[in-house]
Amino acid sequence: MLNIPDTGQKRIVVIGAGFAGVSFASRIAKQDVQLVFIDKINYHQFQPLLYQVSMAGLEPSSISFPIRRLFQKKKNVFIRIASLESVDHEKKRIQTSSGEIWYDALVIATGARTNFYGNKNLEKRAYTLKSVSDSLKLRNAILEDYEKALSEPDYDKRQKYIDIVIVGGGATGVELAGALAEMKKYILPKEYVEIDSKEMDIYLVQSGDRLLNSMSEKSSARALKELQRLNVNVVLNKRVSDFDGTHVHLDSGEKIYCKKLIWAAGICCDPIKGLPEDSRDRSNRLHVDGNLKVANVKDVFALGDIASMKSAEYEYGHPQVAQPAIQQGRYLAKHLLDILEGKTVKNFEYKDKGSMATIGRHQAVVDLKNAKFGGFSAWILWLVVHLYSILGFKNRLLVLFNWIWNYITYDQSLRLIIKQNEQTSTKDDNVSNG
Ligand SMILES: Cc1cc2nc3c(=O)[nH]c(=O)nc-3n(C[C@H](O)[C@H](O)[C@H](O)COP(=O)(O)OP(=O)(O)OC[C@H]3O[C@@H](n4cnc5c(N)ncnc54)[C@H](O)[C@@H]3O)c2cc1C
Repeated sequence: MLNIPDTGQKRIVVIGAGFAGVSFASRIAKQDVQLVFIDKINYHQFQPLLYQVSMAGLEPSSISFPIRRLFQKKKNVFIRIASLESVDHEKKRIQTSSGEIWYDALVIATGARTNFYGNKNLEKRAYTLKSVSDSLKLRNAILEDYEKALSEPDYDKRQKYIDIVIVGGGATGVELAGALAEMKKYILPKEYVEIDSKEMDIYLVQSGDRLLNSMSEKSSARALKELQRLNVNVVLNKRVSDFDGTHVHLDSGEKIYCKKLIWAAGICCDPIKGLPEDSRDRSNRLHVDGNLKVANVKDVFALGDIASMKSAEYEYGHPQVAQPAIQQGRYLAKHLLDILEGKTVKNFEYKDKGSMATIGRHQAVVDLKNAKFGGFSAWILWLVVHLYSILGFKNRLLVLFNWIWNYITYDQSLRLIIKQNEQTSTKDDNVSNG
């Protein structure tokens, strides 16, 4: 049971506290409605900086924000930590892991997940970067393998621990490769002095003929040049076909000996059970109309990565990045009550503010409508935009402090391997001590 009282207000149920859900919920909560905000975790995660957590540059808490803190003292908001299981759109009810609830309007903003395109070996063995827990898992694996490499006298066997393959040359892959290259350059020689940092090989495999293929050719070329300057082995026009845990197999027949593969090569959405088949596309994105209403169902809306609004300009829907999600949330909060009353409102229009990616220390590329540039100025712009977008003043300060510290000292101070099952005290110890 979700145990939500009937207050007589319109009940708006929102699933997902990502960029889209938070953008919508924080605005609709100011209106005379009952807002039920549901997520399977109790915090919002700032995904664009996950890679910095995995590279030990930021603490997980500085890019996470507790949902309840967004709605302190709001009596019309009810937050529940639960997973959406299915929708009964005819009865206007949803089933969650904690029980059922009815709605007047349902807003689905459950985002996307990693897509392995059906390859079970990759799914089982690859590291991903979609959540804070993914980034901590990756951080632990990298640091543990450096430790293991120290005790391995054989050069070939050592390679397995320190080499790393990243798959996917989009922004996540490029940013990860740049950050790893910085780690190799500045951290390995200081803290793992017994390992020759030149032994560490970083591969970035991209199936297409250029990196950052959603950006301009100029930015792609610059990203490639910068990564090569940082000694990243960029492999273009080849696909990773399999991974057996010690060898990464390419479709060209080549193999790379390595035990860590990071998969950043595609996303898809979890299907929303109960909605008609024809309301979603092949990657389970929900077709929405100009008002973000899901096709073929009443009073169900979708926002962010899971929403697909096709137009002449966006043949496959809007890009699955933060800005469309935020803008859609803002639009729907403004117009939802009018839409529910059947009034005609103008359609959602996405304003593309540009895109950017960083490539290691003080390098980035930026594509704006009227300017495409790279280098130090692009990096400063990247820092400002990301800092501004993080939720919470304290989080911004923490991130800023860490960035300044890392910049001045060429160091990241968070290289701790913290594992749940390796506590020094047990529950019994606590009982006997307490
Ligand atoms: C590593 C990485 C780097 C990125 N870098 C950038 C970048 O630099 N710039 C940029 O613009 N975009 C970037 N993106 C993309 C951007 O983060 C997404 O487009 C954006 O988060 C989409 O917002 P959303 O609200 O649709 O989904 P999300 O932010 O993914 O939020 C979905 C929420 O739904 C919850 N949820 C999912 N399923 C359920 C369920 N069944 N029940 C209950 N809750 C559920 C999740 O817990 C989550 O809180 C990056 C993404 C990743 C993974």
